[in-house]
Amino acid sequence: MQKKDNCKYIFVVGGVMSSVGKGIAAASIGKILQSRGYRVANLKADMYVNIDAGTIRPAEHGEVFVGDDGVEADQDLGNYERFTNQTSTKEDYITTGQIYAEVIRRERNLEYGGEDVEVYPDIPKEIIRRITACHEKNKSDITIIEYGGTVGEYQLLPFLEAARMMKSKNPGDVFIVLTSYLPTPSLLGEQKSKPTQRAINDLHSMGLNPDFVLCRADHPATPDIKRTISNVCSLPIERIISAPDVYSIYDVPVNFEKENFGEILLKTIGLPPRQKDLADWTALANKIKKINKEVKIGIVGKYFNFKSCKDTYISVIESVNHATWNLGYKPNIIWLDTERYEADKGKLKELEELDGIILPGGFGKRGTEGMILVADYARQHKIPYFGLCLGMQILTISFARNVLNIKKANSTEFDSSTPDPVIATMADQVEKIKNKNYGATMRLGSYPCTLKNGTVAASAYGKKEITERHRHRYEVNNSYVERLEKAGLVFSGISPNGELMEIAELPKRMHPFYLGTQFHPEFKSRPLAPHPLFTAFIKASISKKSPTQGSISKKELSKKLVKVV
Ligand code: GLN
Repeated sequence: MQKKDNCKYIFVVGGVMSSVGKGIAAASIGKILQSRGYRVANLKADMYVNIDAGTIRPAEHGEVFVGDDGVEADQDLGNYERFTNQTSTKEDYITTGQIYAEVIRRERNLEYGGEDVEVYPDIPKEIIRRITACHEKNKSDITIIEYGGTVGEYQLLPFLEAARMMKSKNPGDVFIVLTSYLPTPSLLGEQKSKPTQRAINDLHSMGLNPDFVLCRADHPATPDIKRTISNVCSLPIERIISAPDVYSIYDVPVNFEKENFGEILLKTIGLPPRQKDLADWTALANKIKKINKEVKIGIVGKYFNFKSCKDTYISVIESVNHATWNLGYKPNIIWLDTERYEADKGKLKELEELDGIILPGGFGKRGTEGMILVADYARQHKIPYFGLCLGMQILTISFARNVLNIKKANSTEFDSSTPDPVIATMADQVEKIKNKNYGATMRLGSYPCTLKNGTVAASAYGKKEITERHRHRYEVNNSYVERLEKAGLVFSGISPNGELMEIAELPKRMHPFYLGTQFHPEFKSRPLAPHPLFTAFIKASISKKSPTQGSISKKELSKKLVKVV
């Protein structure tokens, strides 16, 4: 069979259940291959019919990760960026919706030359075209394709078929990694492989056999289990890799290498072995475990899902981790549900237990009155406050209401008829909102911003020109800027044309750290290169260190502060 290109393709598919860390596994495979000098690409394929993640409720889907080019993608692209330090683009993210939309577009353009257009084979063929396009854009030696969901799911069939078609054409270039889960039922206390065997059978029924099985579990796969799984898929035992729970996600590549995964993987896919360089990464993963000083950071969540906001705010959490670890501390993250402050302002006093507060992005009115109370409390009580997108808008509203005494100041997003829209709909958004044209129409992706000398922002970045990623429809209303500035608010970052307020802050002499960004700095923080604004915020939080530090356990504090909805 003629070879189309010289790339190796590794499909990472899930077995048994989702949410066991397939994305981290795919990112870690990218990391260990990259650390051996190969050029990798990581692609995520999601099964939903949505064109992208931008229209899915955060509590349902988790974070919408935004790339430089404005792609609104699954959070796994964030994992890939954090692990491989490569910038994701639209080519790195596909959905069932995109595949169908393109096939239908081509059919309408007569590009199928009068043929019947069929789910089989035209849908798998388009999937293959997109996978190849991802490799071409990235010029990758190895392309890692993570499929969302688990084998056996109806909607995964065309995607598995695409992998099968690619593998049957070029068997030496296409490989399957099954990330499966091995439960240990508490009554038995023994690890079980049967669900994984079922997942392997599901793969077999699609004409695929795994080339590797990653055994996700709370502890390492036992030799017996490895032997059973290796028999079921006729693989050498060295290709059954343990993937037990670890202290931090950054341990995963290090753990893989403990099983020599990188070398075995290269041997299997037919690429020459190369020396690995994971020293910095390993040093960080080890350092994290030794840290014993902590800083308490409250994050205002509004997308609570199963008692946690972890998925929704994953880039925020990781950015806090990166900056905090780098400063020799570990974060103790406390989720704040601001609706409870709307019901009882007295509870705001609890915030004094915190060393810093982050108000991350969000949409819609719910909880915003409570957020405004939090922003105001943090300003008055000198608690470091870092607002991300919505958090900057809330900071501005709170400042207008409580410092400028514009009592009805609001955002047109929360009150379309407010007499004082200090946060207003961006001009190019008005028509879009009116026509309910919501898909991928926000101000998305990377835009430049110029920083004002002598400000908190400028000193954090240490330079004047920056670019950051955006995702918003509303902005600071320029007709209020002069009054806000006169009252002490500093717009320290502005778009180069002078039109859009990108950063608002209070000067250091007025507050230890009170700053909000219209953009999302959390998308650009890396474990080995924390984001400068997160570093500045965490530094201020460490300096504050609440007097009760150490006297209150995380559990107690969580009980006091968090109402899970
Ligand atoms: N809802 C606000 C807007 O669209 C903030 C968006 C965000 O936090 N990403 O402008």
